[in-house]
Amino acid sequence: MAVTIRLSWEKDPEGYEVEERPDRSLPEEPGESLLSAASKRFDLEGGTYVVSRSKERQPYWHDIDKPHIFTKFASIRIENDAHAKEDSIAFIEAWGFLRRHTPIRGCRLKDEFYPWVAHFKRIIGLIEDKHWKDVSQYIEAFGNIGKCSVAFARKPQGSSPLLTFQAEDLLDYMWLEMMQEVGHGTKIRRCVRCGKVMSLGSETNQNAKRTYCSNSCRTAAYRARKVK
Ligand SMILES: [Zn+2]
Repeated sequence: MAVTIRLSWEKDPEGYEVEERPDRSLPEEPGESLLSAASKRFDLEGGTYVVSRSKERQPYWHDIDKPHIFTKFASIRIENDAHAKEDSIAFIEAWGFLRRHTPIRGCRLKDEFYPWVAHFKRIIGLIEDKHWKDVSQYIEAFGNIGKCSVAFARKPQGSSPLLTFQAEDLLDYMWLEMMQEVGHGTKIRRCVRCGKVMSLGSETNQNAKRTYCSNSCRTAAYRARKVK
């Protein structure tokens, strides 16, 4: 029997924006100690940040029986800089930051976001090839991913309460979603043309043999073959 997994999360009602910050040199204040200068260094580092517009948080719920968030996360096109930014901001707009304690300065894509996308992509590659031993080892190597607490939650229809795992944050929830899917034999596969992640099989009402995410990808691949 499947365990109910729930995400109780939050996002900025006014959305998020990309902020490009230049690298700044260390402050030149005379007499400043090396230690305090070093502690400031991280905040001074440049890069692409995603920042919350209003700094307000609006709560939302997401249950495991709704469409998967991890397939959208793993579909972020990190290979291309412009696409990576565009997809990341769209993802954060839709679901919020990955972590509960994302710093007030925002999330720096290069080290707080893209590496996680890359991990999901790598593990989905192993899942596609059915390298189950590597999949478990990869997951184990992280230590404590998929953290959650236990609740006895009621569904809105007023039925009896259900044992529910409440994920610690968005990232943990996505790990749980993916592990639950794999554990139930759902096929996780990438579109052979664009790399978009699909969740296929009887539980998802999607043909398990599908290789393209959409008709447009199928048509484009067909045209490309014809040109050759
Ligand atoms: Zn596609």
